[in-house]
Amino acid sequence: MLKSVLIANRGEIAVRVARTAKRLGLRTIAVYSQADAQALHVRSCDEAHFVGPAPAAQSYLVIEKLIDAAKAAGAESIHPGYGFLSENAGFAEACRDAGIVFIGPPPDAIRAMGLKDRAKALMEKAGVPVVPGYHGELQEPKFLKQKAYEIGYPVLIKAVAGGGGKGMRRVDRHADFDAALDAAQREAQAAFGDARVLIEKYVSAPRHIEMQIFADTHGNAIHLGERDCSLQRRHQKVIEEAPAPGMSADLRAIMGAAAVKAARAAGYVGAGTIEFIADGAGGLKESGFWFMEMNTRLQVEHPVTEAVTGLDLVEWQFRIAAGGKLPLKQDQVLLSGHAVEARLYAEDPERGFLPSTGKLIALRFPADGSLRVDSGVEEGDAVTPFYDPMIAKLIVHDETREAALDRLAAALERTVVAGPRSNAGFLAALARAQAFRAGEFDTGFIDEHLAELGAVRQGLDRAAAARGAEELLKRESERLAPQPREASSPWDATDAFQLLGERRLTLPIMVDGEAVAAQAVYTANGRVVTVDGVASAADAVVVAAEDAVYVLRHGRQTKITLRDLSIDETAESGAGGLVRAPMHGKVLGLLVEKGTTVARGQRVAIIEAMKMEHTLHAPIDGVVAEIAVAKDAQVAEGAKVLVIEPKKEELG
Ligand code: ADP
Repeated sequence: MLKSVLIANRGEIAVRVARTAKRLGLRTIAVYSQADAQALHVRSCDEAHFVGPAPAAQSYLVIEKLIDAAKAAGAESIHPGYGFLSENAGFAEACRDAGIVFIGPPPDAIRAMGLKDRAKALMEKAGVPVVPGYHGELQEPKFLKQKAYEIGYPVLIKAVAGGGGKGMRRVDRHADFDAALDAAQREAQAAFGDARVLIEKYVSAPRHIEMQIFADTHGNAIHLGERDCSLQRRHQKVIEEAPAPGMSADLRAIMGAAAVKAARAAGYVGAGTIEFIADGAGGLKESGFWFMEMNTRLQVEHPVTEAVTGLDLVEWQFRIAAGGKLPLKQDQVLLSGHAVEARLYAEDPERGFLPSTGKLIALRFPADGSLRVDSGVEEGDAVTPFYDPMIAKLIVHDETREAALDRLAAALERTVVAGPRSNAGFLAALARAQAFRAGEFDTGFIDEHLAELGAVRQGLDRAAAARGAEELLKRESERLAPQPREASSPWDATDAFQLLGERRLTLPIMVDGEAVAAQAVYTANGRVVTVDGVASAADAVVVAAEDAVYVLRHGRQTKITLRDLSIDETAESGAGGLVRAPMHGKVLGLLVEKGTTVARGQRVAIIEAMKMEHTLHAPIDGVVAEIAVAKDAQVAEGAKVLVIEPKKEELG
């Protein structure tokens, strides 16, 4: 067995790899950027090495720095995790050149599968079914358009260097082809520095079904069954499960054999995943699945395979990298029960799934013995704007799909995330969604059901606001109790007027940035707090922070703070023309200058966060009175970006 490993990654996957490495007796070495000095993955390893500034491009993605750290630490091997450099053939090569064992496939196998067009050509040659389409060298727009016509609409344009759904466009009509091609190429050029595309038939009712494979250096290759990852948003997986609903043992054997054939054709070693697109219309079938791509690394969703096989895939990776044989033969791989994983993110489903960063005031998971939580953060840690805002993966395993989904939904409903907003409620709604549970779903399911899943703007949760006001009131009265009354405090209960033996009090509070007045009524029976007549929620979880109270109800967070009456927080400068940063990010561009006349809805600035661009718009007609940030500056969530003053009537 290997003696030491440097984990060239961060977050939950670094923590997860370290756990198995430690169990196997390896010395564990972490790397960290400036933003991660105190991170959980650093605390989880025996030692840690600094590799540079917060942006990944200057730290976790710099091959030289990682190799230097490995040499300094005397690391015998490097585990790349997923993302970052895990599918970078140059990194695998650099490890080899430095005499360090790369825990993954040989560089040539990574290269063979790195580009979608080459991978598809290789698969076609090996006799693995690929989606009908064009994946050749010619990139002439007219020619590609002709190909699309021959394939038959709808088609999908994909970047050959693609990943993460970028450079991908569905085209339904011939007339729309040119514009879609242009957009796909532009996006591909920007994201991958490679504008080339391929065109394939768009599979109707598509299901994403992938096979986990393993190969060793002794010529053995097997599969560990499939995962269904059809629940996606923007081509990103949201919930994954094993086995796939509707999968038969026969079809699994056929798809598994195709996957093993694919792995052999690529000269594969280690853990890999063959992604297939299956036509779900009328049920899964032998003639209805096609190779999409191979991921030459461990997948985010590998725990569902671990749950149904009872195996530790990271342990297998280490054993194979050390030159060992596959621990099991194909017929010794047994699947039991049903496993589901949900990706818990710091994001706001009600605002287009905008990333939500900040300190995790609370992070608690229910004490369900069979719930597995893989996380890279703990309560008190922060979700930073520099990396993927995943908080944790929740994995459950039970005898049936029904029971597993019940267990997952219950776990999500009892998960407490305070500070950043999270998708816990959204995920719970998904796990409970009727059609999904009935097996009637494809990759379009989430987009088609956004409203039912709660991913649309919802109004103020008045019951939660009242509950928060109650908590603030309690806290304030405890604070004031032993002291003589402070006449200036609006919270001073003696300011309230008395009427028929009742004492009433109006509490000025801020609820998620909105000014609200809560009412407290003291009667002989006690105190009742309401907001717009709605009583305080009894079924809420309350998390009290120093300057705010977070009320969690049905997976939704409401933040309540005291309103300081000395400043008007709702409309600084009184005009409603304040434009704030919706999240922590970088100012990519300012589209106006001081003095520019703007119309309501006009684009005024662009903020980049988590590699996504967000455009800010003018909330009112007027003139830009102040610009509070500079281009390329980092801004905090809620920070003032610029102020627009309503245009004054021209005099004379
Ligand atoms: P990326 O590498 O950018 O993630 P993939 O090729 O893996 O792109 O495809 C991502 C997702 O897009 C798939 O999981 C599936 O939902 C959808 N998809 C891909 N190819 C097709 C197709 N031919 N027809 C329908 N949907 C597809």
